[in-house]
Amino acid sequence: MGYNIVVCAKQVPDTKRITGEAMKEDGTVNRAALPAIYNPEDLNALETALQIRDAHGGTVTVLTMGPPNACVILRDSMFRGADRGVLVTDRRAAASDTLATSYILSQAVRKLNPDIALCGRQAIDGDTAQVGPQMAEKLDMTLVTYLEELIDLKDREITVRRNVGNGWEEVTAQLPVLATVMETANHPRPHAAKRIMKYKKARSKLEMEKELPEGADIDAEAETLAAKGLLIDQWTLDDIDADLEWCGMSGSPTKVNRIQSIVLAGGEYHEFDPTEDGCEKLVHELISDHTIG
Ligand SMILES: Cc1cc2nc3c(=O)[nH]c(=O)nc-3n(C[C@H](O)[C@H](O)[C@H](O)COP(=O)(O)OP(=O)(O)OC[C@H]3O[C@@H](n4cnc5c(N)ncnc54)[C@H](O)[C@@H]3O)c2cc1C
Repeated sequence: MGYNIVVCAKQVPDTKRITGEAMKEDGTVNRAALPAIYNPEDLNALETALQIRDAHGGTVTVLTMGPPNACVILRDSMFRGADRGVLVTDRRAAASDTLATSYILSQAVRKLNPDIALCGRQAIDGDTAQVGPQMAEKLDMTLVTYLEELIDLKDREITVRRNVGNGWEEVTAQLPVLATVMETANHPRPHAAKRIMKYKKARSKLEMEKELPEGADIDAEAETLAAKGLLIDQWTLDDIDADLEWCGMSGSPTKVNRIQSIVLAGGEYHEFDPTEDGCEKLVHELISDHTIG
């Protein structure tokens, strides 16, 4: 019968490649200085979704909320096997904290009405791991966090193994379910060459407006792309019936008190031989600079 699966994926700055320009003088993130990547655990969520679709049929829709450029990760998803991409983009969503973000995403997920919604466990920039659970609450969907293995999916019942840190838990739940997926769940599949050839042409309307010559009939172009399955759906807050009070600044109770820019400087480098004498010198040094003792 197939399952309608939605994967929430976030475009994030590559926090592994932080340089001195990563923060602006006012303490906000200088996104221009950091390459934007697919949030790593969202790729594991996508892989889980694709495995379910491949085994049971259905469709995989990848949903992202972000600026127009976030379409890059929607195309990336299509190169790997996703059937459809949806971008929620709206200036009125700016300054959303996790509560507002999860509200906006849950409105979009509600519109997609999935049997299974998958998130990454955590985003590498905000790092809160709150968005998935907050969405499940708002959508009244059963929540399964820390999915590490999909054990069984039959009819409308899913059994998964959760990694709870110092052990595992096997849980069974009735669909619809929202699960957050861990990086240890699988190895995300690479791009498929044939899919790159097809989906490299996938575009949202906003991208078309930027790329096509002035005066081009965007609606007609969008229809042509849609007929080929290459239109990236683009939704505003109005399209998902969002209450503006719950979005952006007004929907965000988090108040940032202070942001500190910490620049880690490399210290003096000492090397010790892997000998008894070397170990003695290392311990002596650690005691003398009060690291231990
Ligand atoms: C006061 C305040 C203001 C902020 N203003 C802005 C701002 O103006 N612009 C901005 O970009 N950020 C802003 N943020 C950051 C923003 O709130 C978080 O990035 C967002 O709520 C996601 O939280 P997280 O990164 O901790 O995600 P987590 O909760 O760690 O993410 C878990 C999972 O949820 C899903 N998910 C999370 N975010 C998205 C998304 N956007 N699209 C699809 N799936 C998603 C993914 O599957 C992800 O793996 C602000 C935060 C605060 C506290």
